[in-house]
Amino acid sequence: MAKPPPHLIELTPQQRRERVLGAGLPEFRAAQLTRHWFALHDDPGQWTDIPADQRAVLAEALLPELLSEVREVTTDEGMTRKTLWRLHDGVMVESVLMAYPDRVTVCISTQAGCAMDCPFCATGQGGLQRNLSTAEIVAQVRAAAITARDGAVGGRPRRLSNVVLMGMGEPLANAAAVFPALRLLIDPVPHGLGLSARKVTVSTVGVVPRMIALADLGLPVTLAVSLHAPDDELRSTLVPLNRRYPVGEVLAAAWQYAARTGRRVSIEYALIGGVNDQAERAEHLAGLLAGRSAHVNLIPLNTTAGSVWRASPVRVQQRFCEVLRTRGIPVTVRDTRGAGIDGACGQLAGQRAPRGSGERALAGQRRADDEGVNVVGALVGEH
Ligand code: SAH
Repeated sequence: MAKPPPHLIELTPQQRRERVLGAGLPEFRAAQLTRHWFALHDDPGQWTDIPADQRAVLAEALLPELLSEVREVTTDEGMTRKTLWRLHDGVMVESVLMAYPDRVTVCISTQAGCAMDCPFCATGQGGLQRNLSTAEIVAQVRAAAITARDGAVGGRPRRLSNVVLMGMGEPLANAAAVFPALRLLIDPVPHGLGLSARKVTVSTVGVVPRMIALADLGLPVTLAVSLHAPDDELRSTLVPLNRRYPVGEVLAAAWQYAARTGRRVSIEYALIGGVNDQAERAEHLAGLLAGRSAHVNLIPLNTTAGSVWRASPVRVQQRFCEVLRTRGIPVTVRDTRGAGIDGACGQLAGQRAPRGSGERALAGQRRADDEGVNVVGALVGEH
């Protein structure tokens, strides 16, 4: 599959200047264009420091179209907006933008599909199609920032504040693209989008060496660990990578991350009725987390197409939550944004269905943000 032409954010400043020179324009235009890109100036009419007749040439040299919108669905009274994107090679991914009173969060994809094969997750059912590039990852965030700025979510112009890497894919299985993308999210304009590191959350099934590598980056982003069970026997069935990196090693890496970055780790736990929601498991989990710098995010399972698993009944969720709370573990139950649009993780991408490997259905995953949303993978599957 042909690679897309290199996008300016994946080039060094020197390479950007060379491309601009190659297009017959003065090299200082490269820095101007970079600034406009990160400053969200999506209308070339705003590039007033660049002569109008040079704008198209510059865009052609440095700004290939990375994401084209296939479908957009709005729900939660205009507070949640989910977008299905087609990439240059026909692969589909989705992102979800969620407005809250105090923040605006986008949930983005890092891979088309996923190889982790967690049986409750819609994205996993179609396998991995490919890794996203750094520019494809950052472009999802920029598109969301523009949508929020333009008042297209939440009813008024807003500033994008939070990013969660909880869309399709396992971010730490694509670290080569994800790590540079994190930097570009956090570096201030004109070198990046200028988001706060602590408001960027990387969610992982527990790829231990990469969790340590993430700590080594020295960016104090928030780490979320998808635990879903306190014991290896059950966790290995829910998160197959547990056979390689068991609970003890994953948590040890999480505590190392917390110590290195000073950031409290978020423990994700999807409550699946009759599977992992027993009071004994809550006790076991509390024991593992006692005295640690951790917060538990309980996620009522988002049912995916063809799955026999269901969310735990509310009273069971409450009991699980209470056990943790009684033991002094900070815990929240995530809200279920996007449920009305299959906004839950990976469901849009899965619906779009397909013929051929390029457009494989990926229905029904779920994405979520750090405090409160269940959304992943619903769009990909719908069509
Ligand atoms: N691969 C990464 C990030 C993507 S999934 C990870 O697993 O952490 C983001 C979160 O949504 C993970 O905690 C994942 O376990 C959870 N998730 C996936 N499918 C879900 C479903 N059907 N219901 C509830 N949570 C789900």
